[in-house]
Amino acid sequence: MTNEKCDITIIGAGLTGLALAYFLKDSDYDIQILEARSRIGGRIHTLMREGFTPMEMGATWLGKKHTALTGLLDELQLEIFEQRMGDTAVYEPISTSPPQIVQLPPNDQPSYRIKGGSGALIQRLADEIKDSCPIHMEQPVTAIEEVGEEMLVRTNTREIRCSKVVSTLPPYLLLKTIQFSPELPPKIEEIMTQTHTWMGDSIKVGLHYREPFWRSGNLSGTIFSNVGPIPEMYDHADFEDKQFALKGFLNGVYHTVSKAERLEMILRQLRKYYGNQVNDFLEYEEAVWCNEPFTFVPYESHILPHQNNGHPVLRKPFCNGKLFIGGSETAEQFPGYMDGAVRSARYVLGEVKSLGMS
Ligand SMILES: Cc1cc2nc3c(=O)[nH]c(=O)nc-3n(C[C@H](O)[C@H](O)[C@H](O)COP(=O)(O)OP(=O)(O)OC[C@H]3O[C@@H](n4cnc5c(N)ncnc54)[C@H](O)[C@@H]3O)c2cc1C
Repeated sequence: MTNEKCDITIIGAGLTGLALAYFLKDSDYDIQILEARSRIGGRIHTLMREGFTPMEMGATWLGKKHTALTGLLDELQLEIFEQRMGDTAVYEPISTSPPQIVQLPPNDQPSYRIKGGSGALIQRLADEIKDSCPIHMEQPVTAIEEVGEEMLVRTNTREIRCSKVVSTLPPYLLLKTIQFSPELPPKIEEIMTQTHTWMGDSIKVGLHYREPFWRSGNLSGTIFSNVGPIPEMYDHADFEDKQFALKGFLNGVYHTVSKAERLEMILRQLRKYYGNQVNDFLEYEEAVWCNEPFTFVPYESHILPHQNNGHPVLRKPFCNGKLFIGGSETAEQFPGYMDGAVRSARYVLGEVKSLGMS
């Protein structure tokens, strides 16, 4: 068991944690990040393979209204590009009628993707902080304790004493997986118990192809289906439009079946629209987020999408300004989204600066 000391311990190397460390990089504070997984990025997870389009298994799209995120991307000189929608979409309203091709209206608020994948932002932030903030991987935090004027953060192999602790875990996950001493006030525990972890129970699926056959005729890669099992799918070509894929969501109930069964049902649905050429995929990728213990634990009761996201009690510092609950779900604006993560990091930065170190 190590026994360390620092000014600020950040729990989680997702977008909130990395952005906060980046915003603090020129401060005099001694900062460390503890990350449970063996990779950084959290709910941003881009699979990068030579010769393939960066495949987003987590966060993908942003809008121009996401100004905290676009501001950070501009600062880091990372480009964005518009999501290709095509002029038409495959639309399946009900299982008893065949799929239709519908004309898509002009979109005055298009979605954008990050050139090189959302993972490019994560990697860039990690590069920026590499000399100012160590990231300790595979260090799931198990306990946070207030000990006099200090905070004590425990993992199975480390004990870190610090002036401030910032959690960036989704609030529900934080409550269910990390022990607090003293316990958090009942009011905040009640809210955290009912705070939705955005996309925590979703399934992302992607198929790489040599050619974008879905763009021929009056078709596109855009699919909206009430029949499923894929409710939404999109053209996932890279920025250069050289590497091709289709990527979408699979109905979350299919976490119970095997990967092979999921693939078979996806191909069955796609064959209805594009014929047998869908069988000639190069690779199939999927992420079943409810099986990721560092993102999701089952809820105790039914929680609505975005429930309690952005709730003001989540932005209250605890333990006399020594403990902060950050993370995208706590942001005042666009909670749950990448933009919310950057806003949360900015908010905690402001609080840390105004409270100072004890
Ligand atoms: C499938 C999917 C699709 C999405 N699509 C979009 C989209 O298109 N656009 C958009 O804006 N947003 C989208 N999101 C949401 C977006 O990914 C999140 O808002 C954002 O990435 C949250 O960042 P965060 O750092 O706040 O949280 P997280 O990314 O959850 O980071 C928390 C970090 O804490 C770590 N951790 C967990 N437990 C512990 C522990 N005990 N000790 C130490 N570390 C721990 C985790 O491993 C993780 O790295 C999507 C999310 C998913 C899952």
